[in-house]
Amino acid sequence: MKHFSGIITSWYSQNKRDLPWRNTNDAYLIWLSEIILQQTRVDQGMAYYLKFAGAFPTVKHLAKADNDKVMKLWQGLGYYSRARNLHATAKIVCTDFNGVFPSEYNDILSLKGIGEYTASAIASFAFNKPHAVVDGNVYRVLSRVFGVESAIDSTTGKKEFSKLANELLDKKNPAAHNQAIMEFGALQCKPVNPDCSVCPMNSHCYAFAKKRVNVLPVKEKKIKVRNRYFNYVVLKSEDSTVINKRIDKDIWTNLYDFPLIETNAEVNESDFLVSKEWKKLIGKNKHIVRSVSAPYKHILSHQKIYARFWEIDLSADLKKIAPDSSIIIKQKDIHKYAVPRLIENYLNSEKGKKVKG
Ligand code: SF4
Repeated sequence: MKHFSGIITSWYSQNKRDLPWRNTNDAYLIWLSEIILQQTRVDQGMAYYLKFAGAFPTVKHLAKADNDKVMKLWQGLGYYSRARNLHATAKIVCTDFNGVFPSEYNDILSLKGIGEYTASAIASFAFNKPHAVVDGNVYRVLSRVFGVESAIDSTTGKKEFSKLANELLDKKNPAAHNQAIMEFGALQCKPVNPDCSVCPMNSHCYAFAKKRVNVLPVKEKKIKVRNRYFNYVVLKSEDSTVINKRIDKDIWTNLYDFPLIETNAEVNESDFLVSKEWKKLIGKNKHIVRSVSAPYKHILSHQKIYARFWEIDLSADLKKIAPDSSIIIKQKDIHKYAVPRLIENYLNSEKGKKVKG
């Protein structure tokens, strides 16, 4: 189609949202926004972008930051490997690129946590280089307008979409073209029930003509979801408690949580309190099971977590009982630590109970 770029850029000039990362060509800030916006909606990501850009105005500020501070600022946004990679990459930009964000596509792509989409976004938005972006919005627009029925998560499908996106790219104006197609997908050609009657592309659109709007784009694989059962042991002795920094290769690396006993299924109190793991943790120390929470259901992209919080009062010194990898803190200081959203939800509901009580 001849006028594809013209139609979407003219739509964009009339409909685009005023977003802070669009008013800059600072590659660092654009990178920051792109990492935050992966897997995150603009309305949720905005506050995080402003917090990060305020706390770390340049890549050097971010590189020098304490990792706990970076994780704490990221708390609640999920997909925490993004924050870890962000911090690691800022350090690499300082050591290998003299603190100046690289402008060449291949150099950008070589950085940790940056894939082809993000490298194209930074190269085009910050440096106006002719690399087409292909994200979820772009897949949707291209598959519908051009009737591409290949699966967007297959190797051949990805190649086909990338080739088409690069053929359509307005090489004289790649930044505006890329931003326009992404915004068009986000606001006009939405995933479910887009309003095709007002769409400037409707007379050229395959899906609209063939009534395949809600079928395209096609996906091949269904995500397998794994159920996990977490039992958090919230140890309390006077005003102290025990937390643990997650260092294993699992979800939430570098965040803090309570001592955890994972089981294969939900367990009842009588079975749990005689289990090997429980005995290993508590030993012969005197304790009272103060409360057991109802299960908290927490959904991640590939996992469903069912968590219970076992609140235990101990008369023993926590130092004797705390696992080696854990630290003892004042209960009131837990908000200083970066915790997963699941733990945050539990702490908030506990706070709510105290306020009501
Ligand atoms: S006509 Fe409908 S399906 Fe086609 S591009 Fe426009 S909004 Fe998307």
